[in-house]
Amino acid sequence: MSSNQALFERAQQVIPGGVNSPVRAFRAVGGTPRFIARGEGAYIYDAEGRRYIDYIGSWGPMILGHGHPAVLEAVLAAAREGFSFGAPTEREIELAEEILKLVPSMEQVRLVSSGTEATMSAIRLARGATGRSKFIKFEGCYHGHTDSLLVKAGSGLATFGNPTSAGVPAEVAQHTVVLEYNNLAQLEEAFALHGRELACVIIEPIAGNMNFVRAALPFVKRLRELCSEHGALLVFDEVMTGFRVGLHSAQGHYASLIPGFKPDISVFGKVIGGGMPLAAFGASREIMKHLAPLGGVYQAGTLSGNPVATACGLATLREIQKPGFFTELAAKTRRLVDGLKAVAAQNGVPFSADSEGGMFGFFLLPELPQNYQTVMGTDKDRFNRFFHGMLDRGVYLAPALYEAGFVSAALSEADLQATLDAAREALR
Ligand SMILES: *Cc1c(COP(=O)(O)O)cnc(C)c1O
Repeated sequence: MSSNQALFERAQQVIPGGVNSPVRAFRAVGGTPRFIARGEGAYIYDAEGRRYIDYIGSWGPMILGHGHPAVLEAVLAAAREGFSFGAPTEREIELAEEILKLVPSMEQVRLVSSGTEATMSAIRLARGATGRSKFIKFEGCYHGHTDSLLVKAGSGLATFGNPTSAGVPAEVAQHTVVLEYNNLAQLEEAFALHGRELACVIIEPIAGNMNFVRAALPFVKRLRELCSEHGALLVFDEVMTGFRVGLHSAQGHYASLIPGFKPDISVFGKVIGGGMPLAAFGASREIMKHLAPLGGVYQAGTLSGNPVATACGLATLREIQKPGFFTELAAKTRRLVDGLKAVAAQNGVPFSADSEGGMFGFFLLPELPQNYQTVMGTDKDRFNRFFHGMLDRGVYLAPALYEAGFVSAALSEADLQATLDAAREALR
């Protein structure tokens, strides 16, 4: 058996930093990343045979846990029929129908292979449909690694953003306006300045890439009004929240609180692929007609709507629609969050936590933060010690303080208890 350390050293010879996505390298928390050999239900096992309770779930997709029998069967059956054809299949229609049934704001949907691709295409669609170039995004929201989305705020609202990555030309960032999340005054000001030039506003309705921060209700309500007043499209990036915070996603949550609320374009990923590379974006027919082959906005993909990935996504979506699924998952997640809060209080550690459906966040802060800057004000050393304290005790949390956590339906009461016991020791 190889050790994690030996694998990490070997990986670094052939893969930059030893990983295919940066957060996996444990740079934020230090130490050696665990190389995962397999997953089963609520657990993952590393190369040394150690078992961990998995609160990452591949960053969201594994809502049923690993190796769910119905999903596995669907994937194996699909694989036997063929991996990829590059021609349309009936299963793509089935998955599209299933998604549209659960997301009433969309009349049509296009399937792609990653969240990055889906948000990139959604922005292009918004620009194509409105004939405008500029758009707003919010600090701390992640929408994949498209050039125009790897942008942070410039020096003022009248100026445009600066790239957050080398290799993104400043010219590309010039059309991106970056605002503080939940800052209503800034939003009003930005619309007053740029309203007529905005193609869209893209937002994570519950931000899961700065841990777990909800967009405040008045903020979402006003955002919707401002978009409508100025002819800008509202893009909900639900790659993380979609079919994770509830059967009707974050937009269902906001629609239940704001009568008639809906975004113009929605983006999905993660859960809809059930662990396979699959994502989607959709909108009304009126907006989607701008997409090739109907309209002038070009978008394509060799593996889009892949038959094995769609089988995996379909089987997953069918499982989460079973009666009581989300009630049970949300209750489990709530018990975890409340339990962690209680354990922290017993140890006198400043702590706040929140959850919706099967997604949660916790902060070593006395109150829930409302924006990225506050999230990043967390004591990093303290977080890192807690993270490693939990990992050493067999609990796998996200290895960075700005990431959300995920609970799978496979998690048992005993797993929850074991997690809280570990937290009690680690927080002490
Ligand atoms: C994960 C994520 C993406 C990017 O999806 P990939 O499949 O990793 O490209 C985009 N938006 C949000 C909100 C995400 O959480």
